[in-house]
Amino acid sequence: MAIKEVVKHPAKVLTEKCEEVTVINEEIIALLDDLYDTMVEYDGVGIAAPQINVPLRVAIVEIGEDRDILEMINPTVLETSGAEVDIEGCLSFPNLFGEVERPTYVKIEACDREGRVYELEAGGFDARAILHEIDHLDGVLFNSKLIRVLTEEELAEMYGEEE
Ligand SMILES: [Zn+2]
Repeated sequence: MAIKEVVKHPAKVLTEKCEEVTVINEEIIALLDDLYDTMVEYDGVGIAAPQINVPLRVAIVEIGEDRDILEMINPTVLETSGAEVDIEGCLSFPNLFGEVERPTYVKIEACDREGRVYELEAGGFDARAILHEIDHLDGVLFNSKLIRVLTEEELAEMYGEEE
């Protein structure tokens, strides 16, 4: 396990479609653990493998009230519905926050680290975070979906409220 450097925009690895994982071996388990350590270190709610320079379809997200870690290997979106605009940020874009429209509901299928295929339904911010990370695996970045960028004043206010 290790904290990796987060690849910042612009970078080629962030805009390419990632490859499917064919075998879940020790390297993939180590990748999941590295993603976790890196996400925690940089205080993200999700992170995708290309963000640590690994172009594979692997990502993790914190979901639910208990902020459980959802590990997604080869995730696919089965269904979405609704639409909602909310604020997003991304570890690959320090200091960029803005409004993005996303579905309010998502159903996905993915593999866990044991190689078991699971289906998962999520709503609200969890759905948003899951879709943001799956976008990364297709080389799609949130800046391409920004409806409005938060001003420095709004950012200061947002950080001010947190403290
Ligand atoms: Zn991101």
